[in-house]
Amino acid sequence: MEEARRQVTPFPAGNPPVPDRESLLAAARVAAQAAYAPYSKFRVGAVVLTEDGRLFSGCNVENASYGLCLCAERNALASAIAAGARRFTAVAVTCLDASPALGPEGRSPCGACRQWLLELAPDAIIHLDGVDRPWTSRELLPLGFVLDAGRP
Ligand SMILES: [Zn+2]
Repeated sequence: MEEARRQVTPFPAGNPPVPDRESLLAAARVAAQAAYAPYSKFRVGAVVLTEDGRLFSGCNVENASYGLCLCAERNALASAIAAGARRFTAVAVTCLDASPALGPEGRSPCGACRQWLLELAPDAIIHLDGVDRPWTSRELLPLGFVLDAGRP
């Protein structure tokens, strides 16, 4: 019985498949469905993939005190960090309510999230829904602030 269960396991332990861009973006779209965005009406979802194949998601969480709003990207990264994850290979971000007329600037991470991505996911490939090419954190934030002294 145990042997049979092992054979049908789609994701064998220790050798997880690498989700492709579309799978990651699909997961980000699911995350965005949970967004709390009563003020902007702009639902965002993000997922981060760890080097050991774990996927963490986040959505934007707004607040009447606008400065306290939390972006989906930082939400996903914080969830992953809280679970002990430290190295990330991919990030996917979607803005469900972005107008098709918006260019890449209308569906890319804000400056604060770019700084988080640069520090916490410097080697990750970043996929933006509706933008065909992948990005790196350095491309999104050239000359971003780095303080290596405090990094484990
Ligand atoms: Zn942001």
